[in-house]
Amino acid sequence: MKKIFGMFVFGALALTACGEAEKQQEASWVVDRFDDIKVLRYEVPGFEELTLEEKELIYYLSEAAKCGRDILWDQNFKYNLAIRRTLETIYTASEVREGDEFVAFEKYLKKLWFANGIHHHYSNDKFKAEFSEAWFREQLAQYINDENRQMDDELLCQIIFDPTLYASRLNRSEGVDVIKASAGNYYEGVSQAEVEAFYGAMAAADAGNPEPISYGLNSKLMRDAEGNIVEKVWKVGGMYTEAIEQIVFWLEKAATVANPTQKEIIDALVKYYRSGDLKDFDAYNVLWVKDSASNVDFVNGFIENYGDPLGHKSSWEAVVNFRDEEACHRTEIMAANAQWFEDNAPINPAYRKEEVKGVSAKVITVAMLGGDCFPSTAIGINLPNADWIRKEHGSKSVTIDNITYSYDKAAQGNGFMEEFVLREADRERLKKYGKLSDDLHTDLHECLGHGSGQLAEGVSGNELRTYSSTLEEARADLFALYYLGDQKMVEIGLIPTLDVAWAQYADYIMNGIMTQLSRIEPGKTVEEDHMRNRKLIAEWCYEKGKEENVIEWVTENGKKYVVINDFERLRELFGELLCEVQRIKSEGDYEAGKALVEAYAVQVDPELHAEVIARNEALKIEPYSGFVNPDYELVTDAEGNVTDVKILYPTNFVEQHLEYGKEYSFLPSMN
Ligand code: ZN
Repeated sequence: MKKIFGMFVFGALALTACGEAEKQQEASWVVDRFDDIKVLRYEVPGFEELTLEEKELIYYLSEAAKCGRDILWDQNFKYNLAIRRTLETIYTASEVREGDEFVAFEKYLKKLWFANGIHHHYSNDKFKAEFSEAWFREQLAQYINDENRQMDDELLCQIIFDPTLYASRLNRSEGVDVIKASAGNYYEGVSQAEVEAFYGAMAAADAGNPEPISYGLNSKLMRDAEGNIVEKVWKVGGMYTEAIEQIVFWLEKAATVANPTQKEIIDALVKYYRSGDLKDFDAYNVLWVKDSASNVDFVNGFIENYGDPLGHKSSWEAVVNFRDEEACHRTEIMAANAQWFEDNAPINPAYRKEEVKGVSAKVITVAMLGGDCFPSTAIGINLPNADWIRKEHGSKSVTIDNITYSYDKAAQGNGFMEEFVLREADRERLKKYGKLSDDLHTDLHECLGHGSGQLAEGVSGNELRTYSSTLEEARADLFALYYLGDQKMVEIGLIPTLDVAWAQYADYIMNGIMTQLSRIEPGKTVEEDHMRNRKLIAEWCYEKGKEENVIEWVTENGKKYVVINDFERLRELFGELLCEVQRIKSEGDYEAGKALVEAYAVQVDPELHAEVIARNEALKIEPYSGFVNPDYELVTDAEGNVTDVKILYPTNFVEQHLEYGKEYSFLPSMN
């Protein structure tokens, strides 16, 4: 719930004047394009200056980060690994590597690699194959035999070609059984009511525990041979053991070069991977969140619950990173003022935290992305997710500078701003302050927004159910938006002028109400939590400020634009909505939360939608981006001692995924 995505991938980050030099620059950062995807590379500045121990630590943690890739594939859909392996076999062996069918097949496989499965990473819809079933059956006959067959050919063809079968990875539509309607592999043979009863009973038994565990986070819920509902736990000796053993192997190597604090943290994580006990996971998180001194840091485990319609199960992910000293100065100022921000938040004082603890915010350079952070990644992370740990021990908040830098570079010269931003003043502000305002928005969202506020007595935090992630993202965004426009930001030296905030406001509203719709297929509603949150905020502010004309729709030359007429008033509206969203969270007011989301965040105006898609398509800007990872190589002397770690920058998306599929694939096709 605490992750911020590249929301401005084609927003402010994309806003720079068009020119030939910039177009060339764009090309050097983009390594592949297909469908709605652009694959970028990222650099790891500062790696060469790290100590040998730090480099070695990054190497081992990076290996651990790559070893869990198959877990995520299997979590996303139970046949994903079998499908990927079959397609890779055909792709590698195929003698005819041209023609429409093969090209369409290659594109389909690239989409699978990008999404870690057969469903779109963002919309959750199953991909449509653009090659014919007849052609595919010929390939199966030619290249798949009893030795390399991963699954039944008939079922495979049905899954790929029948659009109604496993249509969505994550379906949270009103009135459906969200568990049965979702193709994700977190549950099997159980209904939504059964899942709710199962975890409801666990929560009831644990009621009043000041350190409640995160039920169900690391297991699949299914039926045993007798038909009883049981959890199959992801641990050494349990489900996914083949991959988890490899992760543990590399973590143990990492412990040998880690500092004493980090060794303790890594040991705690290994203990949890071995036991599968969620109390061990909490113990690890408590140690991890307290370590703000180590230069190299990492995330490795079952972390975020976006993929589960009921929010219990967490997908596997990994990030390896180290501190970006210079940029850290920014978040240190924020952390130093955390209590002031909390005390002055425009919310009911009863829901403010009396004492803000352990706000640790830093800017990092990513060295390796894995699992659910790869190829598509967040630009900021705030962990751990357990509310009681956040309250008692604080949270760690990071923004990822080398990733946003890469987005920014790749977006220069794409013409987006000229197309969608009507007013010259807004364009000027965005050119001047776009990157700074995005960075600060991310910092505020991660560092202070998610960590702010508290629940009322007796509220567990689970009351908002399927609406909780959307509302939580809205809460963090509103906190960020509200404070970005506060004079305090100028006073403490984070921004030179409030123009930085106005740049963000114009961009945020435009994106939330309009341009982000290019990511949605015609006829669909908004499903993804971060998109819902942005739409909720923009639409709500539009409606509440309508009489005063705070936000205005303008049509010029047959094109629609959205403009802000009163930035100060818009800021007040952000504050009012923050107050209400905080109240909903603090009181666990499900009905009010549902009403807000359903009224403002979900439905799409088809006419506007079609226009945005057409204008965006004319620009040829892919709405989604992801990355290829760097490679690391150990340099050893004659005795086998490690003397250095070399970093290499591969630029071939296909080769990287074929290599990962060969070198880091430890799970059986069916788990
Ligand atoms: Zn967030």
